[in-house]
Amino acid sequence: MSTILIIEDEEPIRELVKLNLSLAGYETLEASDGEEGLQLINNEKIDLIILDLMLPQYDGFDLLPAIVKKDIPTIILTAKDRLQDKIKGLEMGADDYITKPFEAVELLARIKSVLRRTGKEKSKVVIGDVEIYLEQRKVLKNGKEVELTYKEFDLLRILIENKGCALSRERLLELVWGYDFEGNTRTVDMHIQRIRSKLGIKKIKTIYKVGYRLED
Ligand code: CA
Repeated sequence: MSTILIIEDEEPIRELVKLNLSLAGYETLEASDGEEGLQLINNEKIDLIILDLMLPQYDGFDLLPAIVKKDIPTIILTAKDRLQDKIKGLEMGADDYITKPFEAVELLARIKSVLRRTGKEKSKVVIGDVEIYLEQRKVLKNGKEVELTYKEFDLLRILIENKGCALSRERLLELVWGYDFEGNTRTVDMHIQRIRSKLGIKKIKTIYKVGYRLED
């Protein structure tokens, strides 16, 4: 999943953004001032930055050249709503600009759009020695391709999309096979068994009396 760096000095906003990004399945890194932000920009693998402009140490404009140099997509999120600040930010290389107060759904939609536009959207998921390419529907174990059936792949994908959440057998049946499927929940167990034996993913846990969960 994509890693997003939040550079924001106001803790409540930082926490709110972080919470929304985590719920949407992104990994997050946080910096509370420009200097900390710059360190993370230079040392971490980052797919997108949410950048506040008014920051202690270096401000957002000071950071933009370093960000552009590293070719990291950036959305400015700021209380500065003057047109000239917006133009300055975009001209310095930011990909988008949102003014506070903002709606979380809009921020998420813009993140998705920027990631798509800049080709940084991650459709590859790694679980131990298994790599899963969601768009290509391809799975590699230790670099070697493993054949999953259509339903096995869908089941694995649903578990990945709901990582950390327990899903009941009934819910999995609905999500993978559809509401009008005539089979029973035993089908889910059989498919999970086959995914486990093909891929050896120990992180798919059986939740007693419920169903399954892919561990974080
Ligand atoms: Ca600020």
